[in-house]
Amino acid sequence: MKVIKIDKKDWAKGIKALHKAYGLIGPVKEKEYFTFQVLSGGTIPDLEFRNTRLSPKAVVFPQSEDMFEYSLDDSREDHHLLKEVEKDYSPRVVFGIRPCDAKALELVKMNFDTDEYKDPYWLNLYEATTFVGMACDSPCSTCFCTTAGTGPYHEEGLDVLMADNGDSYLAKLLTDKGEKLATSAGWADSAGKSDVLAAKKTAAEAKIVSTVSTEALSGKDALELYNADFWEDVSFACINCGTCTYVCPTCWCFDIQDEVHGKSGKRMRTWDSCMFPIFTVHTTGHNPRATKLQRVRQRFMHKLKYFVDKYDKGIMCVGCGRCVRQCPVNIDIRRVCETMNSFGSDNTCAVQSS
Ligand code: SF4
Ligand code: SF4
Repeated sequence: MKVIKIDKKDWAKGIKALHKAYGLIGPVKEKEYFTFQVLSGGTIPDLEFRNTRLSPKAVVFPQSEDMFEYSLDDSREDHHLLKEVEKDYSPRVVFGIRPCDAKALELVKMNFDTDEYKDPYWLNLYEATTFVGMACDSPCSTCFCTTAGTGPYHEEGLDVLMADNGDSYLAKLLTDKGEKLATSAGWADSAGKSDVLAAKKTAAEAKIVSTVSTEALSGKDALELYNADFWEDVSFACINCGTCTYVCPTCWCFDIQDEVHGKSGKRMRTWDSCMFPIFTVHTTGHNPRATKLQRVRQRFMHKLKYFVDKYDKGIMCVGCGRCVRQCPVNIDIRRVCETMNSFGSDNTCAVQSS
Protein backbone atom coordinates (compact mmCIF):
# COMPACT_ATOMS: atom_id res chain seq x y z
CA MET A 1 0.00 0.00 0.00
CA LYS A 2 1.49 3.31 -1.09
CA VAL A 3 2.24 6.09 1.39
CA ILE A 4 2.84 9.52 -0.10
CA LYS A 5 4.05 12.74 1.41
CA ILE A 6 2.14 15.96 0.76
CA ASP A 7 4.13 19.06 1.54
CA LYS A 8 1.80 21.51 3.29
CA LYS A 9 3.03 24.16 0.85
CA ASP A 10 1.43 22.09 -1.96
CA TRP A 11 -1.80 21.38 -0.11
CA ALA A 12 -3.81 24.35 -1.43
CA LYS A 13 -2.54 23.77 -4.99
CA GLY A 14 -3.73 20.15 -4.89
CA ILE A 15 -7.11 21.14 -3.48
CA LYS A 16 -7.50 23.68 -6.26
CA ALA A 17 -6.80 20.98 -8.84
CA LEU A 18 -9.37 18.71 -7.19
CA HIS A 19 -12.05 21.41 -7.42
CA LYS A 20 -12.10 20.74 -11.19
CA ALA A 21 -12.85 17.02 -10.88
CA TYR A 22 -14.77 16.70 -7.60
CA GLY A 23 -17.28 18.40 -5.39
CA LEU A 24 -15.36 19.04 -2.18
CA ILE A 25 -16.61 18.72 1.39
CA GLY A 26 -14.55 19.32 4.51
CA PRO A 27 -14.38 20.81 7.99
CA VAL A 28 -14.87 24.56 8.23
CA LYS A 29 -14.67 26.63 11.41
CA GLU A 30 -17.79 28.57 12.36
CA LYS A 31 -17.35 30.58 15.54
CA GLU A 32 -15.75 28.05 17.92
CA TYR A 33 -17.06 24.91 16.21
CA PHE A 34 -16.16 22.99 13.09
CA THR A 35 -18.78 21.58 10.72
CA PHE A 36 -18.51 19.59 7.51
CA GLN A 37 -19.56 21.83 4.64
CA VAL A 38 -19.46 21.97 0.86
CA LEU A 39 -16.26 23.85 0.03
CA SER A 40 -17.18 26.29 -2.67
CA GLY A 41 -15.15 28.97 -4.38
CA GLY A 42 -11.75 27.41 -3.70
CA THR A 43 -12.23 27.09 0.08
CA ILE A 44 -9.50 24.94 1.64
CA PRO A 45 -10.52 22.30 4.20
CA ASP A 46 -9.25 23.28 7.64
CA LEU A 47 -7.67 20.18 9.16
CA GLU A 48 -6.68 21.84 12.44
CA PHE A 49 -9.77 20.56 14.22
CA ARG A 50 -10.46 18.04 16.95
CA ASN A 51 -13.90 16.54 16.61
CA THR A 52 -16.89 18.15 14.97
CA ARG A 53 -20.04 18.51 17.09
CA LEU A 54 -22.17 16.88 14.41
CA SER A 55 -20.79 13.79 12.75
CA PRO A 56 -20.28 13.93 8.96
CA LYS A 57 -23.08 11.39 8.38
CA ALA A 58 -25.02 14.04 6.46
CA VAL A 59 -22.48 13.63 3.63
CA VAL A 60 -24.32 10.46 2.60
CA PHE A 61 -27.49 10.86 4.66
CA PRO A 62 -28.69 14.48 4.42
CA GLN A 63 -30.65 15.76 7.39
CA SER A 64 -33.49 16.52 5.03
CA GLU A 65 -33.75 15.20 1.50
CA ASP A 66 -36.40 15.49 -1.24
CA MET A 67 -37.31 12.14 -2.80
CA PHE A 68 -40.34 12.86 -5.00
CA GLU A 69 -42.25 15.89 -6.22
CA TYR A 70 -45.75 16.35 -7.61
CA SER A 71 -48.20 18.94 -8.76
CA LEU A 72 -51.87 19.16 -7.80
CA ASP A 73 -52.53 21.70 -10.55
CA ASP A 74 -55.09 20.10 -12.92
CA SER A 75 -54.01 22.37 -15.77
CA ARG A 76 -50.64 20.61 -15.93
CA GLU A 77 -50.21 17.49 -17.99
CA ASP A 78 -48.26 15.75 -15.23
CA HIS A 79 -50.63 16.68 -12.41
CA HIS A 80 -50.98 14.14 -9.56
CA LEU A 81 -47.98 12.16 -10.79
CA LEU A 82 -45.26 11.35 -8.31
CA LYS A 83 -41.92 12.08 -9.99
CA GLU A 84 -38.49 11.25 -8.71
CA VAL A 85 -36.44 14.32 -7.83
CA GLU A 86 -33.28 14.60 -9.91
CA LYS A 87 -30.13 14.06 -7.85
CA ASP A 88 -26.51 14.95 -8.24
CA TYR A 89 -24.33 11.87 -7.80
CA SER A 90 -21.23 13.29 -9.43
CA PRO A 91 -17.89 12.46 -7.74
CA ARG A 92 -17.27 14.14 -4.41
CA VAL A 93 -14.56 13.92 -1.83
CA VAL A 94 -14.90 14.45 1.88
CA PHE A 95 -11.71 15.58 3.62
CA GLY A 96 -10.87 15.19 7.26
CA ILE A 97 -13.35 12.49 8.20
CA ARG A 98 -12.18 10.87 11.44
CA PRO A 99 -11.48 7.12 11.36
CA CYS A 100 -14.27 6.50 13.89
CA ASP A 101 -16.79 8.33 11.70
CA ALA A 102 -15.68 6.38 8.62
CA LYS A 103 -16.14 3.12 10.52
CA ALA A 104 -19.60 4.36 11.55
CA LEU A 105 -20.58 4.57 7.87
CA GLU A 106 -19.62 0.91 7.48
CA LEU A 107 -21.93 0.00 10.37
CA VAL A 108 -24.79 2.01 8.85
CA LYS A 109 -24.13 0.35 5.50
CA MET A 110 -25.02 -3.01 7.06
CA ASN A 111 -28.53 -1.66 7.44
CA PHE A 112 -28.85 0.36 4.23
CA ASP A 113 -27.27 -2.19 1.89
CA THR A 114 -28.69 -5.66 2.50
CA ASP A 115 -29.71 -8.48 0.15
CA GLU A 116 -33.32 -7.64 0.91
CA TYR A 117 -33.25 -3.83 0.96
CA LYS A 118 -31.04 -1.29 -0.68
CA ASP A 119 -31.39 2.40 0.09
CA PRO A 120 -30.64 4.00 -3.30
CA TYR A 121 -30.20 7.54 -1.93
CA TRP A 122 -27.68 6.55 0.73
CA LEU A 123 -25.85 4.10 -1.52
CA ASN A 124 -25.56 6.42 -4.51
CA LEU A 125 -24.04 9.16 -2.37
CA TYR A 126 -21.76 6.67 -0.64
CA GLU A 127 -20.52 5.29 -3.98
CA ALA A 128 -19.96 8.80 -5.38
CA THR A 129 -17.81 9.81 -2.42
CA THR A 130 -14.08 9.39 -1.84
CA PHE A 131 -13.37 9.35 1.88
CA VAL A 132 -10.15 11.01 2.96
CA GLY A 133 -9.59 10.40 6.65
CA MET A 134 -7.56 12.44 9.09
CA ALA A 135 -5.89 10.41 11.80
CA CYS A 136 -6.53 11.58 15.32
CA ASP A 137 -3.40 12.54 17.28
CA SER A 138 -5.19 14.53 20.00
CA PRO A 139 -8.24 12.53 21.05
CA CYS A 140 -10.78 13.98 23.48
CA SER A 141 -11.00 12.62 27.02
CA THR A 142 -14.40 11.18 26.09
CA CYS A 143 -13.14 9.14 23.10
CA PHE A 144 -13.29 5.39 23.65
CA CYS A 145 -12.82 4.23 20.05
CA THR A 146 -10.12 1.63 20.75
CA THR A 147 -12.56 -0.52 22.73
CA ALA A 148 -15.45 0.18 20.33
CA GLY A 149 -14.02 -1.57 17.28
CA THR A 150 -12.07 1.30 15.77
CA GLY A 151 -9.18 3.63 16.65
CA PRO A 152 -7.41 6.92 15.87
CA TYR A 153 -5.62 5.42 12.84
CA HIS A 154 -8.29 2.87 11.86
CA GLU A 155 -8.56 2.42 8.07
CA GLU A 156 -11.92 0.70 7.55
CA GLY A 157 -14.23 2.73 5.31
CA LEU A 158 -11.50 5.11 4.15
CA ASP A 159 -9.97 5.57 0.71
CA VAL A 160 -7.05 7.60 2.05
CA LEU A 161 -5.75 7.95 5.59
CA MET A 162 -3.83 11.16 6.21
CA ALA A 163 -1.73 12.04 9.23
CA ASP A 164 -0.18 15.33 10.22
CA ASN A 165 3.60 15.15 10.17
CA GLY A 166 4.73 18.70 10.85
CA ASP A 167 5.50 20.43 7.56
CA SER A 168 3.79 17.70 5.58
CA TYR A 169 0.96 15.23 5.60
CA LEU A 170 1.56 11.53 5.20
CA ALA A 171 -1.20 9.94 3.14
CA LYS A 172 -1.77 6.21 2.88
CA LEU A 173 -3.63 5.40 -0.34
CA LEU A 174 -5.94 2.54 0.61
CA THR A 175 -8.13 2.03 -2.47
CA ASP A 176 -8.27 2.73 -6.20
CA LYS A 177 -10.49 5.71 -5.45
CA GLY A 178 -7.78 7.04 -3.15
CA GLU A 179 -5.07 6.54 -5.79
CA LYS A 180 -7.18 8.34 -8.36
CA LEU A 181 -7.72 11.27 -6.04
CA ALA A 182 -3.98 11.63 -5.36
CA THR A 183 -3.28 11.57 -9.10
CA SER A 184 -5.93 14.23 -9.77
CA ALA A 185 -4.41 16.44 -7.06
CA GLY A 186 -0.87 15.96 -8.40
CA TRP A 187 0.31 14.42 -5.11
CA ALA A 188 2.88 11.77 -6.01
CA ASP A 189 5.92 12.12 -3.72
CA SER A 190 6.60 8.77 -2.12
CA ALA A 191 7.12 8.86 1.65
CA GLY A 192 9.67 6.09 1.25
CA LYS A 193 9.91 3.20 3.66
CA SER A 194 9.00 5.24 6.69
CA ASP A 195 7.63 3.71 9.88
CA VAL A 196 6.45 7.12 11.10
CA LEU A 197 2.80 6.21 10.59
CA ALA A 198 3.09 3.06 12.69
CA ALA A 199 4.82 4.97 15.48
CA LYS A 200 2.23 7.75 15.38
CA LYS A 201 -0.55 5.16 15.52
CA THR A 202 0.90 3.54 18.64
CA ALA A 203 1.32 6.93 20.31
CA ALA A 204 -2.24 8.03 19.44
CA GLU A 205 -3.78 4.79 20.69
CA ALA A 206 -1.95 5.15 23.98
CA LYS A 207 -3.71 8.49 24.51
CA ILE A 208 -7.16 6.87 24.49
CA VAL A 209 -7.71 6.17 28.15
CA SER A 210 -11.48 5.90 28.21
CA THR A 211 -12.80 2.39 27.60
CA VAL A 212 -15.90 0.22 27.50
CA SER A 213 -16.27 -3.50 28.18
CA THR A 214 -18.42 -5.29 25.63
CA GLU A 215 -17.24 -8.88 25.68
CA ALA A 216 -20.20 -10.23 27.71
CA LEU A 217 -22.99 -8.44 25.82
CA SER A 218 -23.67 -11.16 23.26
CA GLY A 219 -24.03 -13.79 26.00
CA LYS A 220 -26.72 -11.89 27.90
CA ASP A 221 -30.34 -12.85 27.61
CA ALA A 222 -32.05 -10.04 25.68
CA LEU A 223 -35.31 -10.31 27.59
CA GLU A 224 -33.58 -10.24 30.96
CA LEU A 225 -31.65 -7.14 29.95
CA TYR A 226 -34.85 -5.58 28.61
CA ASN A 227 -36.63 -6.19 31.92
CA ALA A 228 -33.72 -5.13 34.12
CA ASP A 229 -34.41 -2.68 36.96
CA PHE A 230 -31.54 -0.34 36.03
CA TRP A 231 -33.42 1.29 33.13
CA GLU A 232 -35.33 3.42 35.64
CA ASP A 233 -32.03 4.92 36.83
CA VAL A 234 -30.54 5.21 33.35
CA SER A 235 -33.54 7.08 31.97
CA PHE A 236 -34.43 9.16 35.04
CA ALA A 237 -32.75 12.41 33.97
CA CYS A 238 -33.33 12.14 30.22
CA ILE A 239 -35.36 14.98 28.72
CA ASN A 240 -35.80 13.20 25.37
CA CYS A 241 -34.17 16.08 23.51
CA GLY A 242 -32.78 13.72 20.83
CA THR A 243 -29.34 15.36 20.84
CA CYS A 244 -27.58 12.02 21.37
CA THR A 245 -29.14 10.53 18.24
CA TYR A 246 -28.67 13.60 16.04
CA VAL A 247 -24.97 13.89 16.81
CA CYS A 248 -24.34 10.14 16.57
CA PRO A 249 -22.63 8.90 13.38
CA THR A 250 -24.30 5.47 13.67
CA CYS A 251 -27.91 6.58 14.25
CA TRP A 252 -29.94 6.16 11.10
CA CYS A 253 -33.62 6.67 12.00
CA PHE A 254 -35.61 8.74 9.53
CA ASP A 255 -39.15 9.72 8.77
CA ILE A 256 -40.88 10.22 5.41
CA GLN A 257 -43.37 13.06 5.06
CA ASP A 258 -45.35 14.86 2.36
CA GLU A 259 -45.17 18.64 2.35
CA VAL A 260 -47.64 20.58 0.23
CA HIS A 261 -47.39 24.28 -0.56
CA GLY A 262 -50.37 25.52 -2.59
CA LYS A 263 -50.59 23.15 -5.52
CA SER A 264 -47.12 21.71 -5.42
CA GLY A 265 -45.88 19.05 -3.11
CA LYS A 266 -42.87 16.98 -2.29
CA ARG A 267 -42.16 13.78 -0.45
CA MET A 268 -39.10 14.05 1.69
CA ARG A 269 -37.23 12.18 4.33
CA THR A 270 -35.68 13.75 7.38
CA TRP A 271 -33.70 12.48 10.32
CA ASP A 272 -35.88 11.32 13.16
CA SER A 273 -35.05 9.98 16.59
CA CYS A 274 -36.10 7.01 18.68
CA MET A 275 -35.93 9.41 21.64
CA PHE A 276 -38.92 11.43 20.40
CA PRO A 277 -42.36 10.32 21.70
CA ILE A 278 -44.12 10.54 18.33
CA PHE A 279 -41.53 8.51 16.45
CA THR A 280 -43.38 5.25 17.12
CA VAL A 281 -46.98 6.47 17.28
CA HIS A 282 -49.20 4.19 15.16
CA THR A 283 -52.02 5.53 13.05
CA THR A 284 -54.39 4.02 15.62
CA GLY A 285 -52.94 6.37 18.22
CA HIS A 286 -51.25 3.51 20.08
CA ASN A 287 -47.63 4.13 20.99
CA PRO A 288 -45.53 1.05 21.81
CA ARG A 289 -42.85 3.31 23.30
CA ALA A 290 -44.98 5.83 25.12
CA THR A 291 -42.68 6.32 28.11
CA LYS A 292 -39.26 7.85 28.46
CA LEU A 293 -37.91 4.66 29.99
CA GLN A 294 -38.99 2.66 26.93
CA ARG A 295 -37.33 5.09 24.53
CA VAL A 296 -34.04 5.34 26.42
CA ARG A 297 -33.95 1.57 26.78
CA GLN A 298 -34.56 1.18 23.04
CA ARG A 299 -31.60 3.39 22.16
CA PHE A 300 -29.16 1.47 24.33
CA MET A 301 -30.61 -1.98 23.62
CA HIS A 302 -30.38 -1.31 19.88
CA LYS A 303 -26.76 -0.14 20.00
CA LEU A 304 -25.45 -2.56 22.57
CA LYS A 305 -27.57 -5.70 22.32
CA TYR A 306 -29.90 -6.06 19.29
CA PHE A 307 -27.19 -4.94 16.83
CA VAL A 308 -24.62 -7.19 18.51
CA ASP A 309 -26.95 -10.20 18.28
CA LYS A 310 -28.11 -9.47 14.72
CA TYR A 311 -24.77 -8.84 13.01
CA ASP A 312 -22.11 -10.30 15.31
CA LYS A 313 -19.86 -7.36 14.36
CA GLY A 314 -19.48 -5.60 17.70
CA ILE A 315 -21.53 -2.74 19.07
CA MET A 316 -23.37 -0.09 17.06
CA CYS A 317 -21.17 2.64 18.51
CA VAL A 318 -17.70 3.74 17.45
CA GLY A 319 -16.75 5.49 20.67
CA CYS A 320 -16.66 9.01 19.24
CA GLY A 321 -17.95 10.34 22.58
CA ARG A 322 -20.27 12.94 21.03
CA CYS A 323 -23.35 11.81 22.93
CA VAL A 324 -21.32 11.79 26.16
CA ARG A 325 -20.11 15.36 25.63
CA GLN A 326 -23.40 16.81 24.44
CA CYS A 327 -26.11 15.16 26.51
CA PRO A 328 -27.46 18.03 28.63
CA VAL A 329 -28.04 15.73 31.62
CA ASN A 330 -24.81 13.72 31.39
CA ILE A 331 -26.19 10.34 30.44
CA ASP A 332 -23.07 8.41 29.54
CA ILE A 333 -23.17 5.43 27.17
CA ARG A 334 -19.90 4.12 28.68
CA ARG A 335 -21.57 3.66 32.08
CA VAL A 336 -24.68 2.14 30.54
CA CYS A 337 -22.54 -0.27 28.52
CA GLU A 338 -20.66 -1.23 31.68
CA THR A 339 -23.96 -1.86 33.46
CA MET A 340 -25.32 -3.99 30.63
CA ASN A 341 -22.07 -5.89 30.19
CA SER A 342 -21.83 -6.78 33.87
CA PHE A 343 -25.57 -7.35 34.35
CA GLY A 344 -26.28 -10.51 36.30
CA SER A 345 -22.64 -11.10 37.22
CA ASP A 346 -22.85 -9.13 40.49
CA ASN A 347 -25.11 -6.61 42.16
CA THR A 348 -23.32 -3.41 41.21
CA CYS A 349 -24.88 -0.90 38.89
CA ALA A 350 -22.45 1.48 37.21
CA VAL A 351 -25.23 4.00 36.64
CA GLN A 352 -26.23 4.10 40.32
CA SER A 353 -22.69 4.07 41.64
CA SER A 354 -21.40 6.88 39.42
S1 SF4 B 1 -29.04 13.75 24.76
FE1 SF4 B 1 -29.35 12.99 26.87
S2 SF4 B 1 -31.25 14.03 27.54
FE2 SF4 B 1 -31.17 14.25 25.29
S3 SF4 B 1 -32.35 12.46 24.54
FE3 SF4 B 1 -30.19 11.82 24.61
S4 SF4 B 1 -29.93 10.83 26.62
FE4 SF4 B 1 -31.83 12.03 26.72
S1 SF4 C 1 -23.45 6.22 20.68
FE1 SF4 C 1 -22.38 8.11 21.30
S2 SF4 C 1 -20.21 7.52 21.44
FE2 SF4 C 1 -21.25 5.91 20.27
S3 SF4 C 1 -21.00 6.50 18.13
FE3 SF4 C 1 -22.96 7.36 18.79
S4 SF4 C 1 -22.48 9.46 19.50
FE4 SF4 C 1 -20.53 8.31 19.33
